[in-house]
Amino acid sequence: MKVALVSSEVAPFAKTGGLADVAGALPKALKQTGCDIKVFMPKYSTIDESKFELHYEYSIGEMPVRVGGIPRPVHIQQSTLPGSTVDIYFIDCPHFFDRGKIYTADWDEDERFILFNKAVIETLQRLQWSPDVVHCNDWPTALIPLLLKDNYNWDSMFGKTASIMSIHNIGYQGLFPLETLSRAELRPELFYPGGPLEFNGAVCFLKAGILFSEIISTVSETYAKEILTPEYGAGMDAVLGSREADLSGVLNGIDVDEWNPQTDKHLPHKYSMKNMEGKNKNKEYLLEHTGLQSRNDVPLIGIISRMVAQKGFDLIAESVHELMGMDAQWIILGTGEERFENLFRAIGQSLSHKAWAYIGFNNDLAHLIEGGADMFLMPSLYEPCGLNQMYSLRYGTVPIARKTGGLADTVQDWHEYLSQGSEVGDGFSFNDATGFALSSTVRRAIETFKDKKVWQKIQANGMQRDFSWTASAKKYVTLYENAMAKRHA
Ligand code: ADP
Repeated sequence: MKVALVSSEVAPFAKTGGLADVAGALPKALKQTGCDIKVFMPKYSTIDESKFELHYEYSIGEMPVRVGGIPRPVHIQQSTLPGSTVDIYFIDCPHFFDRGKIYTADWDEDERFILFNKAVIETLQRLQWSPDVVHCNDWPTALIPLLLKDNYNWDSMFGKTASIMSIHNIGYQGLFPLETLSRAELRPELFYPGGPLEFNGAVCFLKAGILFSEIISTVSETYAKEILTPEYGAGMDAVLGSREADLSGVLNGIDVDEWNPQTDKHLPHKYSMKNMEGKNKNKEYLLEHTGLQSRNDVPLIGIISRMVAQKGFDLIAESVHELMGMDAQWIILGTGEERFENLFRAIGQSLSHKAWAYIGFNNDLAHLIEGGADMFLMPSLYEPCGLNQMYSLRYGTVPIARKTGGLADTVQDWHEYLSQGSEVGDGFSFNDATGFALSSTVRRAIETFKDKKVWQKIQANGMQRDFSWTASAKKYVTLYENAMAKRHA
């Protein structure tokens, strides 16, 4: 099966979020299942050409790609995903991608990604490589299914190519003014109120992707159901509802080499499920280096997050007095909205014996918190998949999470399962998006922590879980097969 995976970000080349992790890891796992896979992304000026050994693709040379009526010169650079033999092609067009960042608020943001979408298709043509499936990810790639079926349908090499549209966060939809239609040379008759390209009066890339691809996926099963509702659908629920039969969720995997407590180079003390001594030592190390009181009898609760409303920081703010009054210690890492940053700065200063906050982005510290904390708090309002709760489970850092999206699919509440007669729980979770539900659940976790035997069982349950990409890649292959069957029909 030949698969072209297209993404505006791919780790480790360029990353703003979880999408890059998926685009960097999934292709390697797909290759291991036997897929013939090629990855496509823009060549941003921030990508280090020598470090990643990019080389010029002479077989293609200069390729003019028309956007807004102007042919822009495009060149292709090529490399492989680090640690693999997966080919990756970089669409090099400095006019659009030398901007210092991946996404911009520039007037020609639509043109940047129109060019990317068209150039991917034209690269496939020049490589004479006809994919069975094009796997598109989020709005920056969402015009490809339509372009293949419309603008490039003259080319028989795409006659059987199916498309799959993956949604990593429904909140980002690619909305642009009416001129975008002509810049992309899309048929104007596709744009009318309620039509396939129209959303709230704007041209919507994601809507086109949803309606013109064979299969739609998102990054957890629960999120796939949630985005069909007005509460979580960000206005796209009705459009998605029209494709409900073709929509499903596949949980992201995690990088199990990067996030492994037995080998994690960021941890002063390694540990495993069989020998947790290292975790206790990491906790001591954390407490000592943050100036928190050295207390082994109370839990250390970690937070690592973008500090934004999506991640449930309003709930934390609402119950902060309650939370800080509990017999626990806190370590908080994150950046984001100023009001939340200020809140945690203030807490760290006024309660310096029990709370420590680092406002910034720090990967070393993120690993250290996972390696040393007892619990991890993630009360998201919505969470398409979420990674940190999976890292936490793997590190025996028991997650406390709101039951939404990927959190609902990965964290199993200890008491809920216990009441059903089974000891499989690996965390604590709550439904209501209220400060009260959050603080009661944290209290429940703190109470449970006092029973060391039970706690060890909860930790062990989480540490045994398999979050590698292998299982998810197999599910994607099934989706690709479904997409191909639909296209051929
Ligand atoms: P999202 O992509 O919505 O931000 P995820 O849980 O899917 O949420 O992924 C967030 C990733 O970014 C995790 O790997 C997490 O450890 C990391 N991260 C978030 N904030 C920080 C920070 N301040 N410092 C270090 N790592 C962070």
